[in-house]
Amino acid sequence: MKKTMPVDGKFELMALPFAADALEPVISANTLGFHHGKHLQTYVNNLNAALPGSGLEGMALEEVVLKAQKGMLNNAGQILNHNMYFEQFMPPKADNAPTGRLAEAIAASFGSFEDFKKVFANAGATLFGSGWVWLSIDGEGKLQITQEPNASNPILHGLRPLLTMDVWEHAYYLDYQNRRPAHLDALWQIINWDVVASRLLDE
Ligand code: MN
Repeated sequence: MKKTMPVDGKFELMALPFAADALEPVISANTLGFHHGKHLQTYVNNLNAALPGSGLEGMALEEVVLKAQKGMLNNAGQILNHNMYFEQFMPPKADNAPTGRLAEAIAASFGSFEDFKKVFANAGATLFGSGWVWLSIDGEGKLQITQEPNASNPILHGLRPLLTMDVWEHAYYLDYQNRRPAHLDALWQIINWDVVASRLLDE
């Protein structure tokens, strides 16, 4: 997968690939401002503060996630998770769906795109507490949906992550309050499937 390197010993807050209001009404500019500008920034600051003397200085973020322990793992995992989350969005589009090889793989694994969406959204809705639901591909090319608690990422189980939805309350509470399933259902409109498909090919 793509490697995220530190610059002068520090990881940087990723730049959003769209304007702050570009995902409305699915995700408001207000939610995005807190989620990217406050929550993700805090994880970046915490990891940067913990790196000196850790033995993990200069490593790619993905390596830090694989090697870090406890608090550092939580912050590094949350940075990787959020980077992949924000990178995969685009302005809302009706009838948004994957194409090509990814669409074929989803149909082969789950029956249809509609069936996949149901299984994936249900995994997100039923994840107890805070965490992430992921679509990944394993070493044999098989697609898998996993519920990852807190800051976990599928790379910790040897999977290649493709798509994620954040089910921490900070991801949706300002816009949807307690209606997590409604939020997850709306997110299908803003998935940039070209970005998701590109993750099949990253080395
Ligand atoms: Mn989040």
